[in-house]
Amino acid sequence: MAFQKAKGTQDLLPAAIGTWQYVEAAARELCRRYGFREIRTPMFESTELYQRGVGETTDIVEKEMYNFEDRGGRSVTLRPEGTAGTVRAYVENKLYSEPEVAKLYYIGPMFRYERQQAGRYRQFHQFGIEALGALDPALDAEVIALGYDFFTSVGLKGVRVELNSVGTPEIRAAFRERLLAFLEPKRELLCKDCQSRMDRNPLRVLDCKHDQAHFEGAPSILDSLDESCATHFDQVRAHLDAMEIPYTINSRLVRGLDYYTHTAFEYKAEGIGSIDTVGGGGRYNGLVADIGGPDQPGVGLAIGLERTVLLLESQQTELPETTRADVYVVGLGESAAQAATGVAKRLRGAGLAVERDYGGRKMKAQLKSADRYEARLAVILGEDELARGEAVLKAMASGEQQTVRLTELEAQVITQLKEMDAQ
Ligand code: AMP
Repeated sequence: MAFQKAKGTQDLLPAAIGTWQYVEAAARELCRRYGFREIRTPMFESTELYQRGVGETTDIVEKEMYNFEDRGGRSVTLRPEGTAGTVRAYVENKLYSEPEVAKLYYIGPMFRYERQQAGRYRQFHQFGIEALGALDPALDAEVIALGYDFFTSVGLKGVRVELNSVGTPEIRAAFRERLLAFLEPKRELLCKDCQSRMDRNPLRVLDCKHDQAHFEGAPSILDSLDESCATHFDQVRAHLDAMEIPYTINSRLVRGLDYYTHTAFEYKAEGIGSIDTVGGGGRYNGLVADIGGPDQPGVGLAIGLERTVLLLESQQTELPETTRADVYVVGLGESAAQAATGVAKRLRGAGLAVERDYGGRKMKAQLKSADRYEARLAVILGEDELARGEAVLKAMASGEQQTVRLTELEAQVITQLKEMDAQ
């Protein structure tokens, strides 16, 4: 029986990888501009880190983690998100002792045992950033702006920012009581998910897609904020305005993770089945201390790369063209084939992408192969030309041919490619 990939996983094949590299390059470039530096943490951590860092009552910890006992009897978990591991590394490596805010980013796979659907996988990839060590609302706003810039810089249209404040844990606890008093009489009218969320995490009930009709007149967390939370929220908004980042306020937005304080936000877009969230994040002032570090605040975001790629496809966004080969080296006959190997090596050394034949095929077949690689130039090496110390240079688009001295081949190839670029 042939093997198949595990449910909810994907093979990213060379034909599609260009889009991924394009998206990742955009993320790295924006991080450079905003001063975020890459961090790579392990793909698995102790299970307890996620129980504490993500929260016991979250969907992730309750039903989605890939956890197992290793051979030493430790309980470990494939990372379901990037924040807990990044914060763990920040604490363990004492990055907080540096004088500047730690601005970190990561790109990599995450693992959640979720029901498979369009835009939802069991191994998926996130681009995430975390800024640790400052309470400044400018930092919340810059994190939101970086995410917004990411979507626009890859060429996506219509990605919206939704913003909320979820206050402090104390404010949420008081709000929770008010909300439950509102929801309790409606319990039987709500969907199963909402009913179970009422018991575990009532704030998330308001986020439900099906039951919005029942939430008319529900209390708003924004009315429950104290002065310092309200001020922080206002300042985040002012900084967003200063950067001209558009956003809407959604007082029902609560993120799926427990650790958020103050700012919570999401990026939304139409075009991936029934799913509309492509990224999100917020401030987490208690998290560093919760996992045993000093009392340092943080703010961050995570963006789903599968969903970004799906949106690029659904919007038919034009990506920059990449060619697989600048030059194809045609070698005809045994000694010419060896000369071709040498020529290919020298041209690659000059920084060009070079393809060639690996089967001793005839001229016509090799030129066809050159077309498949979209080579712009072919270098044709035959026994007779070689004997004269020459090669033929063929411009693939026009068919124009020119005989050049082997000693000048490299320089000629480079000149011709430059001329083509300039046209
Ligand atoms: P979260 O960590 O749940 O806030 O997720 C942040 C982003 O990661 C989401 O907005 C999605 O774009 C992406 N994401 C989360 N879970 C999945 C999944 N199972 N499959 C694909 N993308 C996901």
